[in-house]
Amino acid sequence: MYSVAEARERILSRIHTTTTESVSLSDALNRVLAQDLVADGDYPPFDNSAMDGFALRSEDAAASRTLSVVADIPAGAAPTTGIYAGQAARIMTGAQMPPGADCVIPVEDTDFKNRNAGAAPPNSVRLGKSVGAGDNIRVSGTDMRAGDIVLSKGRRLKAQDLGLLATLGHASVNVCKRPRVALMSSGNELLEADAPLEPGKIRDSNSYTLSALLTQTGAEVIRLGVARDTRESVTVLLNKAADENADLILSSAGVSVGAFDFIKDVIETNGSMDFWKVNMRPGKPLAFGEYRGIPFIGLPGNPVSAFVGFEVFARPALQRMSGSMDGDRQRVRVRCAEEVESDGRESYLRARIRRADGVPSAFLTGHQGSGNLLSLAQADALLIVPAGVKCVPAGSEVDAILL
Ligand code: AMP
Ligand code: MG
Repeated sequence: MYSVAEARERILSRIHTTTTESVSLSDALNRVLAQDLVADGDYPPFDNSAMDGFALRSEDAAASRTLSVVADIPAGAAPTTGIYAGQAARIMTGAQMPPGADCVIPVEDTDFKNRNAGAAPPNSVRLGKSVGAGDNIRVSGTDMRAGDIVLSKGRRLKAQDLGLLATLGHASVNVCKRPRVALMSSGNELLEADAPLEPGKIRDSNSYTLSALLTQTGAEVIRLGVARDTRESVTVLLNKAADENADLILSSAGVSVGAFDFIKDVIETNGSMDFWKVNMRPGKPLAFGEYRGIPFIGLPGNPVSAFVGFEVFARPALQRMSGSMDGDRQRVRVRCAEEVESDGRESYLRARIRRADGVPSAFLTGHQGSGNLLSLAQADALLIVPAGVKCVPAGSEVDAILL
């Protein structure tokens, strides 16, 4: 049986990053940048005023000087005249500085107080304060320099990154294709979420949890539904995944040693199994293989095991597949507020993190049975107890994955 780290390495060694595509900027949020973004020039591209006011020469900028106003420069206009001794130009925020001027005095520091829209510039202006060279100017290149790598390949694009791309003149951007993941549940006991309970049956919760986790990682989900516990039903759904050209098949349940657990068998008819057990808790029955050339991850059926298996194996696989370099779950050290027991397998325990005595401290959420979804819903972290450790005393530190 592989350790968690060995199993993860084996999975990752078979996962390839998707090819790339160009998408319009308005569709690029949360997509993964496929190449470094390099500034093609200096930004801002020209020296411009940071204020509504008057552009002038610092030699003329002593308090109480009166200057003649020889130009009016709105944002968006290229200045047509230079500023010489004794002169100034009315200028708006973002407008290009006229040649000769090297500072701006805000309008409120002059005797011209009229800031109404449409107001004509005055013939002359008297300075209420002195200003110095460079004051109230945004110098070309202070934001970005030509040749700067401003966003790196592998970055998941945020709202502000889209603004940066637009600033640099990109209306579309090369991103990694979203991994297409075929998702199936399996089991004769599974009902739809809106079905009334029947004897011996439960509702299929995994397909909702897993589909949401997949969406969170940026994958495109192909929902295959529920395979019944027969060879035929499992075969039909796995073939559908392959026909849909999925990049990954993700299933839950049907991979342990039950008399009706057919998934491993079916995989082997048209592919191969690499392993089907990992030394961890919860989630020991975790399968990995390939079906018709598509990587297959078989998560356990128990809802908490399926979730943990996703976090520990599927999430890193999807991260690699999607080309993302940003880890999407944060890991922190926390102090155990109470004693934590394990059976010596690498264990993932549901906990709430709260500050106690100024330190982030972990409190287990209820019963840790792998079918108990409520204690997972109440948790905001998974504590990791390393393999070989059977007891973590209260007060000691462990790693935690923040959910
Ligand atoms: P299995 O791996 O098929 O033996 O399933 C293990 C446990 O997980 C059983 O108690 C199943 O009823 C439960 N289970 C399997 N699939 C789901 C699912 N989609 N939603 C909720 N529970 C499930
Ligand atoms: Mg089953």
